[in-house]
Amino acid sequence: MAPHQPPPTLPGKGKRIAMMTSGGDSPGMNGAIRAVIRTAIERGCEAYCIYEGYEGLVQGGNLIRKMGWSDVRGWLSEGGTLIGTARCMAFYERPGRLQAAKNMVLNGIDALVICGGDGSLTGADKFRAEWPGLIEELVQKKELTAQQIAPYKHLNIVGLVGSIDNDMSGTDATIGCFSALARICEMVDYIEATASSHSRAFVIEVMGRHCGWLALMAGVACGADFVFIPEKPRADDWQQEMCKVIAEHRKIGKRKTIVLIAEGAHDRHGNKISAEQIKVLLSDPTKCGLSLDTRITTLGHVQRGGTAVAYDRYLSTLQGVEAVNAILDATPETPTPFIAINENKITRKPLVQAVIDTKEVAKAIDAQDYDRAMKLRDTEFSDFYEAYMTTTATSLNTDLALPAQKHMRIAIIHVGAPAGGVNAATRAAVAYCLTRGHTPIAIHNGFAGLARHHDDKPVGSVREFDWLEVDGWASRGGSEIGMNRELPEESGMAYIAELFAKYKFDGLFLIGGFEAFHALSQLRKAQTEYSSLCIPMTLLPATISNNVPGTEYSLGSDTCLNELVAYCDKIKQSASASRRRVFVIETQGGRSGYIATLAGLSVGAVAVYTPEEGVHINMLAADINHLKDVFANDSGQSRAGRLILINEKASKVYNGKLIADMIREEAENRFEARDSVPGHVQQGGTPSAMDRTRAVRLAIKCIEHLEKFEDRSDAKLKEDPLSSSVIGIKGASVVFSPMKDVEQNETDWKNRRPKDEFWMYLKATVDTLSGRPAVPPPH
Ligand code: ATP
Repeated sequence: MAPHQPPPTLPGKGKRIAMMTSGGDSPGMNGAIRAVIRTAIERGCEAYCIYEGYEGLVQGGNLIRKMGWSDVRGWLSEGGTLIGTARCMAFYERPGRLQAAKNMVLNGIDALVICGGDGSLTGADKFRAEWPGLIEELVQKKELTAQQIAPYKHLNIVGLVGSIDNDMSGTDATIGCFSALARICEMVDYIEATASSHSRAFVIEVMGRHCGWLALMAGVACGADFVFIPEKPRADDWQQEMCKVIAEHRKIGKRKTIVLIAEGAHDRHGNKISAEQIKVLLSDPTKCGLSLDTRITTLGHVQRGGTAVAYDRYLSTLQGVEAVNAILDATPETPTPFIAINENKITRKPLVQAVIDTKEVAKAIDAQDYDRAMKLRDTEFSDFYEAYMTTTATSLNTDLALPAQKHMRIAIIHVGAPAGGVNAATRAAVAYCLTRGHTPIAIHNGFAGLARHHDDKPVGSVREFDWLEVDGWASRGGSEIGMNRELPEESGMAYIAELFAKYKFDGLFLIGGFEAFHALSQLRKAQTEYSSLCIPMTLLPATISNNVPGTEYSLGSDTCLNELVAYCDKIKQSASASRRRVFVIETQGGRSGYIATLAGLSVGAVAVYTPEEGVHINMLAADINHLKDVFANDSGQSRAGRLILINEKASKVYNGKLIADMIREEAENRFEARDSVPGHVQQGGTPSAMDRTRAVRLAIKCIEHLEKFEDRSDAKLKEDPLSSSVIGIKGASVVFSPMKDVEQNETDWKNRRPKDEFWMYLKATVDTLSGRPAVPPPH
């Protein structure tokens, strides 16, 4: 049996599932198509693609095509949609939908997965609601017979939200929005360099007619001076407000000014605010006293272009798989679902409600009821809005300041190895502290740096932060205050406690990986002995390995995945340019296979080897045989290389080089094999947009959490398990977990990773979608 042929008796046998992309294209749509087609085939269904959106459904013919397993090879790394999309006027009208229904029945299609924006999904919902009437009408008009329509009484539809705007209610992210955000941040980073060189102001217009998600998130990620979004227009005196903020930023020494404006921005009365208007305000001294050399950049379609970021690749893949599962689970009574993501959890939600809620946002904006518009957006959106407002104009947010008796001296320390987002988190924490009246204090070079403190030069390792210094850190990689893996006990806990007392820390904010977790555990345990350590302490996990217990996501892991995905794309291309080749790529990740697995999911690896599963000879033999089959069955048209990802600690014996040698030996010149080690490239240069934005949101939550321990008496603190905590994304929530619980119940100390790793189930998806045969047992 050819490796990709499904066994004959699978649950979806006989079902015909069609996939369609509609509305504006977005990066990641191809990942969704690949996942739907392959999952459908694997589950025993027949898979179809409808080309050119609803136009293809209305026209039928060659625009509805049956798809095979290898038709979607390599699609994960392609931008846009390879099956086309179109705006279809005919589908707005009933006759168009009637024709579409006829084509569905004639092609025997009983289920449809549609990836598109709110318009496309509104159309889908209408189509499903009308379906019984449409097929009845086709019989009445004698276009189809009663016999023909009999098997198609119910139409199964599942929506996938593909849109760069992230404007659909009920889901935190749409397929493509993080790719568009990444592109915007990349462009703003470029512009910032020239703006700073010439001391210029730039007004940058980004997409978003009714939704300010892209503008707001780019503002958070890049530390923009001012942001205009449609959901929350500024007060009537917005001109003065903007100029005051910018004048203040200039006064403290900023050489660049960035204003981000969503294309749908307007004032509280619905009057459009244009980039040109802002330019005049910033450059004409007669308006509000500023005379900045101001330029306008409209980013336009660049935002849609390019390949998808890692997140959009695995999100679209997992949602595509879930869409097919939803179709196969559906009964005639099941309400039509769409596939959402909330924080880190993929869920099915009723499509009708999401469409209604989405339209409500637009209605609220039109009615100038902006409080309602903000309420209708997801809580994450308001969180980010608050985070943005807190981290900009710190000195002007006087209404957020706490009374003097509540002010704290909060120490910030980085522990472990650099990870994308560490500086952005620090910047946000400092901004929040300053806004509230706290004193943010930098501890340089981790606990080793603290311990190297000299009485005569105390300023070297411990000092107060200065806002101008950190303001430019939003997009900076590495660790600006220095990071070190050393644990407090290595310097002597008594000495560390003495320094805590000396500097009168009232709270500690740790940012880092497993060492930071371990350090916090040591400090917590030492509280019984040293009262200076009885302060609230919280950890924001940051490590590319994503192996910190208490969270499913660590800062830096997304940056790392993007680096790996870009690396794999290039390697794959080199393979296709030369000859048929397998690359075995060794990833970092410590004893956690997270980045290897998620990168495998994002690039379509043929196999992923992790420390959790290990590597054994039967597994290698099966995979090598599988590769032989794959290359034997390859028609030769697709010359792209195949990738295997192996975590650096997956096996003590089988490393990337050895496995590549084994494959080469067995391939007998039918294909090539090479190993490749990206090494420290994986720590990334500029942090990803996701790491930057999440850093800001989570860091602010951490300082808010420390603030809750107003009563810092020893006894009270020891009583409250959350006084030493780790913040994390767990499933659909952001939670603080008590360190003691996490240390004792959730930590695999020997392997330095969580006991239950949420992503383990994803390994099966990587295998299924690459057609890897079942992994044989070791013996
Ligand atoms: P984007 O977010 O990129 O704008 P979208 O899916 O919202 O994507 P639209 O142009 O609104 O894009 O819709 C795409 C297609 O979906 C339309 O051309 C039309 O064929 C169909 N469609 C949209 N709204 C409806 C509707 N109310 N009734 C029937 N069909 C619709």
